Amino acid sequence: MEADRAQLHLVGTGTHVTPVVPPSSPRSHPASVRLLSLDAHGRVLDWINWQDATCLYARGAVAWTLGEPCLRVRGGTCRRTGEQSLIELHPIVASRGHARAQALSPTPTLTNTALFARDAQLCLYCGHEFSRPHLTRDHVLPLSKGGRDVWENVVTACFHCNSRKSNRTPQQANMPLLAVPYRPSWIEHLILSNRNILADQMAFLKAQLPKRSKLSA
Ligand SMILES: [Zn+2]
Repeated sequence: MEADRAQLHLVGTGTHVTPVVPPSSPRSHPASVRLLSLDAHGRVLDWINWQDATCLYARGAVAWTLGEPCLRVRGGTCRRTGEQSLIELHPIVASRGHARAQALSPTPTLTNTALFARDAQLCLYCGHEFSRPHLTRDHVLPLSKGGRDVWENVVTACFHCNSRKSNRTPQQANMPLLAVPYRPSWIEHLILSNRNILADQMAFLKAQLPKRSKLSA
């Protein structure tokens, strides 16, 4: 189809979009919806934005999809027919080919955002919930004592507990940890890193969680 230079824009979410966050939240805007990208074997790759998903559809690179369309993207107008192109995006999109081995289940990057999400914004010393500006990354075995900046050695801590623990281990400070720090699996990371997961996507991801996962409840 010969199309004018495509002016892609979102025309809204379908009735099947069920954002986890309230509709009033700016994150529930259609442009904030992320689509779950799989390889052709159904293995989970990553979240992709609607622009990247649209490219997959336009290139004919979509192998199969799951769920009812959640976004519609209008493209350019065909000069011959006068019809405007329309691509409907599905919440879960498998693209042709299979992923390189290293692209599957990579270690989630350790960031404060990801760490605080893992620990549900709770200080793992006093157990209280705090808003993000009041949270810190605490090294269980302090860096000065050879501790490493890795998932298994970091916990969310409030400012007060972090400064009280200071340069000591939990044992030395007599501040026992409320939970053992762990490295999230890639699936756990995908759930924790997106606050706007659609119902189809959440069901698909939760079906792949190990039973031990705190997120499988
Ligand atoms: Zn605390």
